[in-house]
Amino acid sequence: MLSCLIMELNDILEIRQFKGLRLERKAGEILVWGKLKDVESVCPRCGEEAVKPHQYYEKRVRHLSILNQPTYLCFIHTLQRCLACNRHFMEKVNFMDSQRQYTRVYERHVYEMCRGQSISRVAEMEHLSRDEVKGLLKKSWFRATEKSSA
Ligand SMILES: [Zn+2]
Repeated sequence: MLSCLIMELNDILEIRQFKGLRLERKAGEILVWGKLKDVESVCPRCGEEAVKPHQYYEKRVRHLSILNQPTYLCFIHTLQRCLACNRHFMEKVNFMDSQRQYTRVYERHVYEMCRGQSISRVAEMEHLSRDEVKGLLKKSWFRATEKSSA
């Protein structure tokens, strides 16, 4: 079943800046291994485009479930260094906010679920802790809808 899904994987994910390459099913979770694409790497301080990778971070970001199993996007997120002003900054992606472990569409999904159900019930269904759900709700998820989050 999973191998059938691979063909349509990126249609399912619907994230323009992420290319899913491989699915892994592990301990009741789905890991989508892939890479970022078309990311913006312009220095936020001086606008310089000449940057150099400084450090690589392996990210694991929760996304909407596939086959009703908790699903994560796994990719390398690069810390860039501006060659002009020396500032370090993370590659900018529009499907999640910086320092977050969830995609914006997932944050919104949890927010919507919580409108009709208790936090405990949502936590149970999403395999999250109550604190994680509360943390998600604190986030101003609606900012994601103002810009295109595709
Ligand atoms: Zn700079």
